[in-house]
Amino acid sequence: MKTKKFRSLSFKLTLWYIVILGGIVILAGIFQYQGFKDSLLEELDVKLLEIADETYETWYGERGVSWEDAIQKTNNRFQSDKPLIQLVQLGEKREKGVQKVIRDPQIPEGSFLFEDKVYYRADRSDIDSLVYETITEKNLGSYPIRAILFPVRGPNIVQVGISLENTEIDLRRLLIIMILAGGGLLLLASLGGNFIIRKALHPVKSVVQTARDISADDLSLRIEAGQRHDEIGELVDTFNDMISRLEKSVKKIKQFSGDVSHELRTPLTIIRGEIEVLLRKERDKDEYQKILKSTLEEAAYLERIIDDLLFLSRIDAREKKEFDKQVPLDEIVLKAVESKELAAKNNGLTLEIKKVEPVQIKGEEILLERMVTNVIDNAIRYTPPGGKVEVGLEKKGGQAILRVKDTGIGIPEESLPLIFDRFYVVDKSRFKEAGGLGLGLSIVKQLADCHGGVIEVHSEVNRGTIFSIRFPEAQ
Ligand code: ADP
Repeated sequence: MKTKKFRSLSFKLTLWYIVILGGIVILAGIFQYQGFKDSLLEELDVKLLEIADETYETWYGERGVSWEDAIQKTNNRFQSDKPLIQLVQLGEKREKGVQKVIRDPQIPEGSFLFEDKVYYRADRSDIDSLVYETITEKNLGSYPIRAILFPVRGPNIVQVGISLENTEIDLRRLLIIMILAGGGLLLLASLGGNFIIRKALHPVKSVVQTARDISADDLSLRIEAGQRHDEIGELVDTFNDMISRLEKSVKKIKQFSGDVSHELRTPLTIIRGEIEVLLRKERDKDEYQKILKSTLEEAAYLERIIDDLLFLSRIDAREKKEFDKQVPLDEIVLKAVESKELAAKNNGLTLEIKKVEPVQIKGEEILLERMVTNVIDNAIRYTPPGGKVEVGLEKKGGQAILRVKDTGIGIPEESLPLIFDRFYVVDKSRFKEAGGLGLGLSIVKQLADCHGGVIEVHSEVNRGTIFSIRFPEAQ
């Protein structure tokens, strides 16, 4: 199944990235726009105050100048700002309201006027809390007018206004620039972000592709991660390790089934050959007996292989559950030694119990006995006559340690890692009479494993071998 584009991780990450970045850009834009607007208005307010003050100073400073002249002069001075200037004369008493307005000629009559109460509020105000008002009137143009109401002697108010046209045009220009720049920034950031995210997630695609290409027949594939030391690198390494382990197991299984077929085939071929020879012509009784005996031996050999394989597959299939029964390992060891005494004697060996301490472990008696017997059996089989086999059981640091030591032919160092493999035998020719199926130690290992045991082997060729198995002691 292919991941749909809008469901892909890179799409989702990019989307989140754009949403968060977009939010930040919009917030930053709003603050910047507001700040710019405030500073424009502040500038305008300073200008309004300057013009109002100038109007008053012109009237007051030059004796005999009428308000009309003062307004005209100031208007000429600040021509570029196109100010609207007028003097509003109030009645002494509040109820009287606006008495007279001296306006500059550009202001149409009856326009640019506020309610009386606004003027009285201005009249009482001091210089620190000047009154600014905004008014929109058709005959003053289509833009609102920002005005200052500046109280002078009287009760008179100098009223100066400037259109917000330029301010609004500047603000609109700023808004367009911000939208274009913000949009461009977002577009670039999302393209760049998407590129980086996709690059970072690229190995995940390789993982998916490789996983798809892998089958039990071809486990040689690995994912290239380059020199990554991040989480993705870790994922790739873990995945590659997993394939390596799978590859090893599959190889082992293939090897095992090949070995099984081979091991079963050899005795069957012998049996078949012998019977065919037997049938070719009439034989005397002795000959029949000899050949049938040999056939029987091969059949017994086959039975042993099948028994061992069945036993192995039964412990393989067993669920890894903890044993809840405690068993005396010392008694099991003594029993196993006893069962092998005759075999040791027949081989001309001394089988000795070194020291067996009483110790309990969790497990199943029959399985443990088979395990111990197998190890002692090997020691006996691979030790030439005159040698010695020693068995001991020690209790140490919460562990039960079983040791089987022999003075036998030993195991070459290069074979040590392989002796627990199924059907592995160290060079069949080296100690012919002892040779077995190569299943004994795999059974030992499997049984030790399921009892939480750890096996160690020390061996020297022609000097002897020590097998130690450590089990956790039952509490
Ligand atoms: P086998 O049935 O051939 O004995 P095992 O699985 O029991 O198979 O052992 C694997 C190989 O390890 C044997 O072929 C044998 O050469 C070697 N081996 C096992 N135990 C000993 C030992 N005590 N001394 C020397 N070699 C041993």
